Amino acid sequence: MRKPDIFDEIIQCLKTGASTGADASMGEDTLNDFFTRPRRPAAPARPAARGAASPAPAPASDGSRPMPAYAPDLPEWESLRSECAACMKCPLGRTRTHMVFADGNPHAELMFIGEGPGADEDASGVPFVGRAGELLSRMIAAMTFDRATETCIANIVKCRPPGNRNPSDEEAAACMPYLKRQIEMVNPKVIVLLGAVPLLYLFNLKGIMKLRGRWLDYGGIRVMPTYHPAFLLRNPPAKKDAWADLQAVMAEFGRKPVPRR
Ligand code: SF4
Ligand code: URA
Repeated sequence: MRKPDIFDEIIQCLKTGASTGADASMGEDTLNDFFTRPRRPAAPARPAARGAASPAPAPASDGSRPMPAYAPDLPEWESLRSECAACMKCPLGRTRTHMVFADGNPHAELMFIGEGPGADEDASGVPFVGRAGELLSRMIAAMTFDRATETCIANIVKCRPPGNRNPSDEEAAACMPYLKRQIEMVNPKVIVLLGAVPLLYLFNLKGIMKLRGRWLDYGGIRVMPTYHPAFLLRNPPAKKDAWADLQAVMAEFGRKPVPRR
């Protein structure tokens, strides 16, 4: 059984606060600035110009092909997905089971970018569904966002690097134009980079330890680098730093943690 972590505690706290309307309090050393918001604020309405989100998840068409959790209504998005599904621009195309395009809502204001698919993602065609994905889901819930409808999740490479190695420079270079088009289409308000790989390939920067928590700019989009959830699984004490980074992102959306009294 997994030990409850900081994100579980925060989620529990949100639930308690939402159901009782009372302030919920946290364990002493969990966080010194954790919030005790009585009620979760409603998600901000999407500007009409960006398109209305479809209300229901897409039904599985034939039960075999993995379907995105959220039905996109962007024809260019689907056309890019088909392009990627047929792509053989780098050697990873030959060894993949599924190309892993994205998860969530292409109209989301919050985007997460990881490295590349692992075994579970290769098998399912959906990003971040393995152990690291479970942690990412809890991080998103702790931020008071809904993963399926309020986030869009993608990776630097769309096909699994064998043995879970990092993508090579050539593989990343071959695949990045797809991600860049996805970023353009989603046009999120904030992008969270998960770990060193997206920091390297989107910004040509090294040093996630030093650069995490510092805002970057990607063509006018605010970008927050933080630790990869797989790293957090190996280094649980770093979750506190990751939570500080995610709180800075929350503040951008007006979902500001209230300091503890
Ligand atoms: Fe094409 Fe990207 Fe897959 Fe390489 S990793 S084959 S560039 S989709
Ligand atoms: N790690 C990643 O970087 N991306 C995934 O989709 C899964 C694990």
